[in-house]
Amino acid sequence: MYKGPPKTTDVPLATPVQFVKGVGPALAKKLARLNVFTVEDLFYLIPNRYIDRRKIDTIAELTPGKEKTTVGHVLGSGVYFLGKKGKQVFDVVIGDKTGKISAKWFHFRHQQMKNLFPVGKKVLLAGEVTQFKNKLQFFHPEVELLEGDGDSLEIGGKILPVYPLTEGLYQKTMRRILRNAWDGFGHHLRPALPLDFLERHGLADPWESVSLLHFPSSDIDAELLNSRRSQAHKTLIFDEFFFLELGLALKKAKATKEEGIAFPKNLKLAEIFKKTLPFELTAAQKKVIEEISQEMEKPFPMNRLIQGDVGSGKTVVALACCLQAIAGGYQAAIMAPTEILAEQHFFTIKNYLSQMGIPVGLMTGGVKGEERARLYKACATGEIPLMIGTHALIQDDLEFAKLGLVVIDEQHRFGVLQRQALHKKGKTPDVLVMTATPIPRTLALTAYGDLDVSVIDELPKGRKPIFTRLYGEKQREKLYEGMFTELKKGHQVFVVYPLIEESEKVDLKNATEMSEELSRIFSPDYTVALLHGRLAMPQKEKIMADFKNQKIQVLAATSVVEVGVDCPNATVMVVEHAERFGLSQLHQLRGRVGRSTHQSFCILMADYRRSEDAKRRLKIMTETNDGFQIAEEDLAIRGPGEFLGTRQAGLPDFRVADLSRDFDILTLARKAAFELVEKDPNLNLMEHQAFRKILKSRWKGKLELVQIA
Ligand code: ADP
Ligand code: MG
Repeated sequence: MYKGPPKTTDVPLATPVQFVKGVGPALAKKLARLNVFTVEDLFYLIPNRYIDRRKIDTIAELTPGKEKTTVGHVLGSGVYFLGKKGKQVFDVVIGDKTGKISAKWFHFRHQQMKNLFPVGKKVLLAGEVTQFKNKLQFFHPEVELLEGDGDSLEIGGKILPVYPLTEGLYQKTMRRILRNAWDGFGHHLRPALPLDFLERHGLADPWESVSLLHFPSSDIDAELLNSRRSQAHKTLIFDEFFFLELGLALKKAKATKEEGIAFPKNLKLAEIFKKTLPFELTAAQKKVIEEISQEMEKPFPMNRLIQGDVGSGKTVVALACCLQAIAGGYQAAIMAPTEILAEQHFFTIKNYLSQMGIPVGLMTGGVKGEERARLYKACATGEIPLMIGTHALIQDDLEFAKLGLVVIDEQHRFGVLQRQALHKKGKTPDVLVMTATPIPRTLALTAYGDLDVSVIDELPKGRKPIFTRLYGEKQREKLYEGMFTELKKGHQVFVVYPLIEESEKVDLKNATEMSEELSRIFSPDYTVALLHGRLAMPQKEKIMADFKNQKIQVLAATSVVEVGVDCPNATVMVVEHAERFGLSQLHQLRGRVGRSTHQSFCILMADYRRSEDAKRRLKIMTETNDGFQIAEEDLAIRGPGEFLGTRQAGLPDFRVADLSRDFDILTLARKAAFELVEKDPNLNLMEHQAFRKILKSRWKGKLELVQIA
């Protein structure tokens, strides 16, 4: 519905795109599918790539496989039928002094095309040249009809932007809309950043940069544009990152000014703890414990992320920190995303702490009746200094006497609110969050950019890289032989399935059926059991315990074993329908083996019908064990929103910047932002007023975080 002309507003860039000349309601709807709602959105719809039409080739010069532009006269045109089904093809032949070439269309209106290409008409064709049986041709090229000698070229002779499109929206339309929008509104996109700031960081004017990306001048380097490393790109990417980092820097600066708890180091307790452990801590674990310990000593709230690959031993590091809080007279809590994981932490930790005479409690949904009542009481009185649990820890009525340290394991499984809820159980407690898999560098600096990061960059001694193989159904026999070999050595095997019951029409082998098959093959010599999410907790516990103490040798399971499960004697991880799992899930699953000095194996069983993304995932799994490399690839495949899961609410959508590509610019922008905040923590200086203003408008409603005074 037409709502009349736009109102005069302070922010013309917020004008709905429908009011751009030549757009209107119908086109506006199509643009909305590209997330373009306002004039500003349109300006920031940066072209995907550029076509260089500056060079016009003669027909003889054309080579296949390249974007080319050529000019010739129409020699003839017509429709012919292709193949048995008789698909219609419209064919135009053009020629110049050097030769002839065909241009073909599968989708066309006959009469219209005939009128467009009368014999003798001079035309420009542009597009990818393809080769078919020794002949070169264009498919669906861009066409420009030339008048006279063609010196008023519209697409020839230029570098042309190529925009993302949606159904019913064409390149030509997009280019025209952008032109109109720029003519009508471009002057409102004023340079907001101080000139000396731009200069100091080698940036161009953002306003000119936007203009240049939509209307590249013909003397520009097209390759730089296509690799998104032109100064215009760099400027806009820097600009986006800079204001995110500025917000994070302010948030961090504010947090360090708050009052927190100072936990003194307790060397004696730390020493006893080390003696209790059945292994020597790795150098990386020691380094991280020391780092955290020093920060816990300070009277500010700690906000820290522990990064470390699967199996790097994050749990004991967290526990060492809990002990420092406990020694200081406070309570600590560790929250894990699943009951299995919480229980496992509980048993391992209880095993260590009982030797030290420190009580531990386990709080999950499964803890009922008297035990639950006892824990509630002991937690509220402070009698139990360490509570381990699931979401059950954040229930309203569970009170802590004096909660000083909060540890969140596999934090990406929790939402912002859940993490805050646990935080609120204490008074400015220190916070440690841990991740299941490494986080790509760029995300560590953005999504987690307000946290300090400790990295455990080393696995315990003697761990061997896991052999990873990709098998198809034909190699199933070989798989079973391999399993037998390992079982005979006294080792154990995981077999993981994506589903637990057959769902209609889906030809997945379900876990139940497969575990029966495994029983037929491996029993009576070996015991096979099935673990899945729908079993009741006591049953799950029993199976896990039996697997851990080796009463069960082959554990068929659904992805409930994905996170955390620790059974060092297992050396084989078989993943059925591996093509259905995400990359970080696969890496997590593989991380269930390789936890001892024995050589371990991961066999990915996959269907041959694989999507492109699945192929990429499986390939990288067989190529590397490096969690950081895998995380980078995962980010590239899925994009930050998907990668971050529940945390995505915390990141703005970048319009130009790309987290898997722009690490270099991100580091520069972060440095600039943190330096600025160090100099002026409240952005009070006159020269920083422009930053403050932009920051306010950019962060509005987008980030949970900063309040700028
Ligand atoms: P993650 O970092 O994946 O959470 P865990 O904390 O579960 O790893 O530790 C993985 C396994 O390694 C556990 O069995 C743990 O007992 C063991 N472990 C931890 N640190 C060491 C070490 N320094 N030396 C040997 N084994 C260790
Ligand atoms: Mg863990």
